Amino acid sequence: MTEEWQGQLKDFVNSIERLERFINISAEERKAIESTSSTWGTTPYFASLMDPDDPACPIRRQVIPSGQENINTYGMQDYLVWKENRATEEVRPDSIARQYVDRVAFTVTQNCGVYCRHCFRKELVVDGDLSLDFNVDEGLQWLSEHPEVRDVLVTGGDPFLLPDEQLEYLIRKLRELPHVQMIRFGTRAPIVLPQRITPGLKKVLGGYHRVPIWVNTQCNHPNEITEETAKAVFELMGCGINVGNQAVLLKGINDDVETFRELHQKLLRVRIKPYYVFYCESAPGIDHFRTPVEKGAELIRDALRGHTTGLAQPMSVIATNIGKIPLMPDYYIQGKNDKEYTLRNHKGETTTIPNMPE
Ligand SMILES: *Cc1c(COP(=O)(O)O)cnc(C)c1O
Ligand code: SF4
Repeated sequence: MTEEWQGQLKDFVNSIERLERFINISAEERKAIESTSSTWGTTPYFASLMDPDDPACPIRRQVIPSGQENINTYGMQDYLVWKENRATEEVRPDSIARQYVDRVAFTVTQNCGVYCRHCFRKELVVDGDLSLDFNVDEGLQWLSEHPEVRDVLVTGGDPFLLPDEQLEYLIRKLRELPHVQMIRFGTRAPIVLPQRITPGLKKVLGGYHRVPIWVNTQCNHPNEITEETAKAVFELMGCGINVGNQAVLLKGINDDVETFRELHQKLLRVRIKPYYVFYCESAPGIDHFRTPVEKGAELIRDALRGHTTGLAQPMSVIATNIGKIPLMPDYYIQGKNDKEYTLRNHKGETTTIPNMPE
């Protein structure tokens, strides 16, 4: 029996003809679609959230190719090889990317429910310039030989596009490794394919276990959050899974104070905890999405910290080949001397507290 989510993938919106059912395609969009050789598209569900008449719609801009992708002034060549330390001495299967001692990213598929135009793995996922072998058993074998890895981040592509049986196998095998203490999934499914959170998937993910499962999704704009998202997240939580968000800061999409605040407030309203906001990485062909490096910290300062609950606040980071580097606002301590600290709040008011010697 075909489940609804599988129907969503079967009806994937990846042609002009299918896209026309949802929006009035602009001349520029049409030209970019006709001339691109990259993979593009999304589910009918996600396409239905597009504004039919506005080419600047934040969802259209994430999904529909743009002529600007051919302009690459600041993107790095072979970005993923650099970013995922693929050219280092340590021998690892293609599926394992490593920047840290205690945790790795384990890529299990390169298929997605949306081929994000801003994707930092676009050389692999969108452009198909990089060809890697994501053999799950090979990755599991490597993990079994690396007892220092206690935290496995399963990623892609979108791992939730795998069938229930494959996910069940993967989770079971990971949990059999005595050193694996937690499993994380990076998936846009709650946002682009909430139908994927089926009773079958819940059975695979759910239940009390020594090794918990955490999910991080990627939601970049408040328009991406619907009643369906809320229900999907609730279902995941109902089987013991925490859902966080890793937003990408995108120029003209979510880099203004109002949108940034609304995004983070709305995430909490559907029970998603903001985890990271990423600087849009220096992958090739996505210059047009990139903001200044400091923008994330500025938005946290101007839109979130103090202006709304601390629960809404993600950490602003830049992902690099040596790990994620925090880029947070730093105006809070205005001064200190032997007697006191002077602290500043979001309104610019200051206060003092005693400086106690250690
Ligand atoms: C992002 C990432 C992780 C996980 O980082 P956290 O800060 O723990 O979420 C692990 N390994 C690689 C290679 C990564 O890119
Ligand atoms: S879902 Fe993730 S991996 Fe897939 S295109 Fe989007 S950002 Fe890239």
